[in-house]
Amino acid sequence: MGTPLESRTEQAEELVDRLEEAYPDSTISLRYANRLELLIAVILSAQCTDERVNKETKHLFEKYDGPADYANAPQDELAEDLSSITYYNSKAGYIKDSCEMILEEHDGEVPDTMDELTELSGVGRKTANVVLQHGHDVVEGIVVDTHVQRLSRRLGLTEEEYPEPIEQELMDLVPEGYWQQFTHLCIDHGRATCTARNPDCSDCVLADICPSEKGDSEIDLASGEPW
Ligand code: SF4
Repeated sequence: MGTPLESRTEQAEELVDRLEEAYPDSTISLRYANRLELLIAVILSAQCTDERVNKETKHLFEKYDGPADYANAPQDELAEDLSSITYYNSKAGYIKDSCEMILEEHDGEVPDTMDELTELSGVGRKTANVVLQHGHDVVEGIVVDTHVQRLSRRLGLTEEEYPEPIEQELMDLVPEGYWQQFTHLCIDHGRATCTARNPDCSDCVLADICPSEKGDSEIDLASGEPW
């Protein structure tokens, strides 16, 4: 078991420093060429891997160009075009409804505020944060996905369970200039080393400061269950 630094703020800063060194090119892995494509890719990525989303959007973005194409498409056809994605029927509906709203209320442009974005169908705070950060260069919060959720708990930064309270805690701990990068670093480390089922603690740059480290700790603080 590693020993966390004295305060959670120091722990968060140390985590950022070390992961930045380990993953110097960390960034978003979804592919998109404009804000609407970003919005659609992020909606599709819920409960689905970025790799699968990128594979599907390669064809999707060739076929549909702009919000009117999605809004006017028959929902069955759009769903069929997304069929390798989890929950493709619901996501086709979200995309169609969001594009209708974008046309009717936002002159065809993806909105640039948290309130307007979260009014779109299928868009919660996490999706809106990604679109704001990468589409509009506005950083209002921290994107808490499954990797951020797991790593923050394992490393003792939070005991909260759900994304929104976790985000609020992290915003107090992580320096504001790193809010965006914090997510990408956690995602990279979560994919490479601190995986959900079998984290490789013996080869982890955070092992000495991680209270969940498997060497001695019996508990995975992410789940609260024994390893
Ligand atoms: S891989 Fe192990 S030591 Fe590293 S952060 Fe995850 S649980 Fe902690």
